[in-house]
Amino acid sequence: MKAKLTAETTVYISCLHCDVGKKRVDHLFDDTMPREAGPWQCDDCGGKYKVSVLSSTDVEVEPFDDGKKFVKSYDLLVILPQEKPIYFIVEGGYHSPHEFEDKGKAYFYGEHTCPTNWLQSVEAIVSEGDDDPHGIAEFVRTVDVSGVEHPGGDGEPDWRAVFPEAFGDGQTIDGDLAAKAIPHE
Ligand SMILES: [Zn+2]
Repeated sequence: MKAKLTAETTVYISCLHCDVGKKRVDHLFDDTMPREAGPWQCDDCGGKYKVSVLSSTDVEVEPFDDGKKFVKSYDLLVILPQEKPIYFIVEGGYHSPHEFEDKGKAYFYGEHTCPTNWLQSVEAIVSEGDDDPHGIAEFVRTVDVSGVEHPGGDGEPDWRAVFPEAFGDGQTIDGDLAAKAIPHE
C-alpha cells in the first residue's frame, strides 16, 4: 500500500551576527503571537539576540548586548572512585515476540555500543539509593572550544592532548583530581 505522507515545516532564523548559526522558531508560532523570545545565544559565534515573532512569516531579531559573550567550552568532569555502585537507567527496547536473551543486551552495552551513545539515553542515575545524585560528577577543568585543534579537519579533537589528566592514572601530583579545578571566569 501507499504510505501516507506527512510534511512538516521546520523554520529557523539565522543569527544576525554571523549568518551561520540558526535557531528553530516554529515552536513559537501559536495563538500568543505577537510574542517575544530570548535573549538567545548563537551556538556558532556566541552572539546574543532577542526575537520578536510577529507571525509565522514575520520574525524580527535585535542584537542583545549585556557586555558578555558566550564562549563554548569542553568541560572535563570526573566521577571519583566510589565505594558503592552507580546505576544508569537507560531507555532501551527489543523486538517482540523474541526469545529474549539478556546475553544480547549484555553484549550490546558491554561490547557493541559506545558509552557516549547510551549516555544520551540515560533516564536516571542512581547512587546509594538516590535517583538524582547531584555532585556525583565533579568538575575538573574547562577548555575553550576555539583553542582546541581538530586533527584532520572536522574530526574529533585529540582528547589525550586536550585533557591529558583524564588519560593518566586518575591521580594528579597532589593526588586529588578535583583540586586541580581552574575556576572559569
Ligand atoms: Zn552567530
